[in-house]
Amino acid sequence: MRSLTIKKIVMLVVVVLPFLATLFAIWLLWQRAVNWTDIALLIAFNVLAGLGVTIGYHRMLTHRSFQPHPVVKFIFLVLGSMAVEGPALEWAAIHIKHHAHSDREGDPHSPVEGFWHAHMGWMFNRSFADPNVYCRNLVKDPIVVFVSSTFVLWVILSLAIPFAIGGWTGLLWGGLVRIFITHHITWSVNSVCHTFGKREFETRDQSRNEWIVGLLGLGEGWHNNHHAFPRSAFHGLHWWQFDLSGYVIWTLERVGLVRDVYRVTPGMRARYAGKKIEVETEVPSSIDVEMLPENSLV
Ligand SMILES: [Zn+2]
Ligand SMILES: [Zn+2]
Repeated sequence: MRSLTIKKIVMLVVVVLPFLATLFAIWLLWQRAVNWTDIALLIAFNVLAGLGVTIGYHRMLTHRSFQPHPVVKFIFLVLGSMAVEGPALEWAAIHIKHHAHSDREGDPHSPVEGFWHAHMGWMFNRSFADPNVYCRNLVKDPIVVFVSSTFVLWVILSLAIPFAIGGWTGLLWGGLVRIFITHHITWSVNSVCHTFGKREFETRDQSRNEWIVGLLGLGEGWHNNHHAFPRSAFHGLHWWQFDLSGYVIWTLERVGLVRDVYRVTPGMRARYAGKKIEVETEVPSSIDVEMLPENSLV
């Protein structure tokens, strides 16, 4: 109980501090106390940490969309940690829980309980998902366990590098403002992409494809596609659905750093398009079916 309270206080700091820093940064910008190094740090760290979450935490770890070289796996998990969205293990467990109960009882962050609850409120009034229940196989993975248990180190590094390069304003823009932006883009996948946008596939949840989140979220905004085909390494399923994370995975495959990339064929797409999917097409592969709570999708 006490550790849960501490956890909530830590989360409050993690959420509020970057917000206040962003207000401060805007004020500084007004004063012209920002330079091109700061902006470059903001963009670079936002994209790197963002890809760490989308490719590393999400597609690689949670859904096993491809098999990475161990060094690639380590690097993406470290980059994901730098987004300050929690250790990889906890992130994966919560996300698997989301897929198992999407927009129904048990979903940690469904807008059915309110938009702001889905966006960020859920972190303050819900218990978390136990990795030993939702992703037992990951708990046995030494790389995942190591990067998760050294999470704080990577967070500090993600602040120390911008500081070393750009000084205090580098820390502000490349560190705190960047965390604020990355957080809200990730959370928009949970809130916006279960509320606004179009549905190509009649999944059992409220997931939607929303192009702005698709663009800013490095491909994660094509969320209805993702719920229809959770294991697909590519969330953008049409040429016009920009999916930067998918392009990076494609490139890594070409140079031999990842293999067994899971793809959705046009035939699979056509079969599901416009039809009600009675049973979720695919349970996230890392889920431990036996340990799921009763009445889950499986
Ligand atoms: Zn979702
Ligand atoms: Zn997912």
